[in-house]
Amino acid sequence: MTGTTSPADSAAGRAAAASRALYRQEDYIRTLQDLSHGELRDQMKETVSLEKAAIQEWLDSGDCYIISLAGKVHLPTCDSMKRFVDRDSAWFTNLRFPQRLQGESPDEDPIPVWPILRTRAQIEAMPRRTACPLCKPDLAHLDKARRAITWTYLPARSLNSKHFSTEFRLPNGSLLGALTRISTVETIDGLLFTAEFEHAEAPVTDPDTELMYQTGMRALA
Ligand SMILES: [Zn+2]
Repeated sequence: MTGTTSPADSAAGRAAAASRALYRQEDYIRTLQDLSHGELRDQMKETVSLEKAAIQEWLDSGDCYIISLAGKVHLPTCDSMKRFVDRDSAWFTNLRFPQRLQGESPDEDPIPVWPILRTRAQIEAMPRRTACPLCKPDLAHLDKARRAITWTYLPARSLNSKHFSTEFRLPNGSLLGALTRISTVETIDGLLFTAEFEHAEAPVTDPDTELMYQTGMRALA
């Protein structure tokens, strides 16, 4: 990586994570059973304030993106991320109904989801990324960098031993992995072609299958 500190590694981030982790510990959960609703609320408010400090520190850094569970990259200001970024609303239901933490929750896990916080460098290191169409984070130069990759296309029939250990993909981008074996066997029905790849579920048997591999990066104008 680029040496950028992950938002989760900051002091505030660690404190918030530790506070959240408590709710996953069995003996801690048992102690919650004995608390009054008022005590439970105080306990939660402490966690909320640590989480808010961590979010604020991350926002103040100015280098902040969120990855949604669907894998899209969002700005912290995105409407669809509000319920994760605003920790008061994330905890609102639990604060209103503290008994949710004492096993009376219809949700399997009553602890609100913590967003996946990322820096720009971390986003750039992702092999694939899609910008949220609502908040439209400015990832243009990243997309350009991706387009700058040049590919060489060839039909499977053109594979030969010099392609061993070259990493192949199908033209739609799905990974086949390194070529590990090629064979053409004469059978009663004609030639039987087989090309095997490290990550492919099944060998490629149609010699006309189009494949591609990366040949370099085109210089950007
Ligand atoms: Zn968004």
